[in-house]
Amino acid sequence: MAIQLKEQGKNNFFILEKSHDVGGTWRDNSYPGCACDVQSHMYSFSFSPNNHWSKRYAPWHEIQQYLLETTAKYDIRKHCQFHQEVVSAVFNENIGEWVIKTHTGIIYHCKHFILASGPLHVPEIPNIKGLKNFQGKVFHSAQWDHDYDLTGKNVASIGTGGSAIQYCPEIAPKVNQLDVFQRTPAWVLPRDDRKYWRVEKTAFKHIPGWRKLHRYRLYWTNEARVWPIFNPSLAKSLSMLAKGLIRFQVKDKVTASRLTPNYTIGCKRILISNKYYPMFNRKNVELVTEGIKEIKENSIITADGKERAVDCIILGTGFVVDPRIYMRDFELKGLEGRDLRTDWKDCAEAYYGTSVAGYPNLWMLIGPNSGLGHNSIIFMIEAQVKYILNCMKAIEHRQSDYMTVKEDAQLQFNTHLQKLMKQTVWSTGCKSWYQQEDGRNIAVWPKSTWKFWLETLNIKVSDYVFTQLGQSQEQRKDQHRNRVSETKSKMKRNKENTEVATELT
Ligand SMILES: Cc1cc2nc3c(=O)[nH]c(=O)nc-3n(C[C@H](O)[C@H](O)[C@H](O)COP(=O)(O)OP(=O)(O)OC[C@H]3O[C@@H](n4cnc5c(N)ncnc54)[C@H](O)[C@@H]3O)c2cc1C
Repeated sequence: MAIQLKEQGKNNFFILEKSHDVGGTWRDNSYPGCACDVQSHMYSFSFSPNNHWSKRYAPWHEIQQYLLETTAKYDIRKHCQFHQEVVSAVFNENIGEWVIKTHTGIIYHCKHFILASGPLHVPEIPNIKGLKNFQGKVFHSAQWDHDYDLTGKNVASIGTGGSAIQYCPEIAPKVNQLDVFQRTPAWVLPRDDRKYWRVEKTAFKHIPGWRKLHRYRLYWTNEARVWPIFNPSLAKSLSMLAKGLIRFQVKDKVTASRLTPNYTIGCKRILISNKYYPMFNRKNVELVTEGIKEIKENSIITADGKERAVDCIILGTGFVVDPRIYMRDFELKGLEGRDLRTDWKDCAEAYYGTSVAGYPNLWMLIGPNSGLGHNSIIFMIEAQVKYILNCMKAIEHRQSDYMTVKEDAQLQFNTHLQKLMKQTVWSTGCKSWYQQEDGRNIAVWPKSTWKFWLETLNIKVSDYVFTQLGQSQEQRKDQHRNRVSETKSKMKRNKENTEVATELT
């Protein structure tokens, strides 16, 4: 977003970051084996290629290095204000500005407020009886303590999600005993990873179009994965194949069966690893599927009463995935005192995961329903950035001060998405972090990513209300009347949403 603002000659912006540096996910996650599940030539900006990725799925430190270099290349650092956690954002209608407050008490005014606070950055700490009294070492995978030596230790890893399947195989050869606590198994498919040869890197650099061609190929290979998502019967057939792969990799029949999910592949995020399943053939690794009853000072007791001695607990329990928390866990107020905490009380909804009715000039990157399970999120972010820049231009063109998406447009958009959602593999009955309690999926985009790009290429201006400060009282009254009618349609929407949710459950 920052780079594209600069490219458009807009230099009057600042970035508020609560931590000490840029990088977000790839600054925080440095656990052994940490890597992206999307190929690096795809998980990088289209406008800032890197010809030197060491392998198809580069490790976290290469991605972080790439982000640092890109920050330097486009001279972004001077716009960053580190150690500034945003604690409130309130839109002032009279002056058409957002008033942003950080935890240090500094107040910033801005015309546009872009919420790029990341979909997976708040560690989820499980509420397990006794965890606080544990006398050994405890840390979350996103806060890995590299000073703590795991050699020869008895380690318990809680959770079997994207992070745990990456770090467990790396630490298993080092530790004395690794107990992997699993609540629900994930489908883990082979990772088509390999190193790039020197000749390939040279070709990427010197042969015009070669790297782009490679990127296109990766894009369309990934995009082909939407087929099973939109055709659950195809996904069911793939499940059979994946089941065979588990049995092939895990020698012990019982362990293999406990590692096999009982839901259709793709319903929860598919994970990729070549090392995870074979790890269970090691003598010092045990898969524990009995729930944790209690954590004692130096041990873990499971529901079957068995006690396991533990020196270190690693929480591979993932992240808070509710946009109502990760997008903002602070006061966010829009028009006429509307508060996003209230508006999103039952369900987080936006328009193309980018704008929200009632909150003018508030833009989101990876807002509700713009996440992905099959391709690079960078592709979606770039589409959103273009869209936001077009919105800014539209405001300038109309000599307006702010624009707000219409309630009706947002309603129609979300009703359509939830209808599509019903035909996907995500609605085949599993409980995943894509869905909230009532079955509504507020996390992922239910179409191909190129459709998101196409649909956000131009703004549908009729879906927005443009406001100019200093409008006559009559015009303001008109707008007020519009908002009243929008509120009514919102009430209608709530009713319809309840119906959709009932159908889904
Ligand atoms: C282990 C892991 C693996 C992943 N693998 C993949 C993958 O394979 N493919 C994929 O597409 N995605 C993956 N993701 C998702 C990943 O989050 C996104 O790909 C991408 O990093 C999002 O970038 P971002 O800048 O939007 O968010 P982030 O990288 O999360 O950055 C958000 C930034 O906002 C800051 N921030 C948050 N709240 C505030 C506040 N109130 N005030 C000030 N600053 C704030 C944070 O400190 C952070 O620096 C993965 C995530 C994790 C954690």
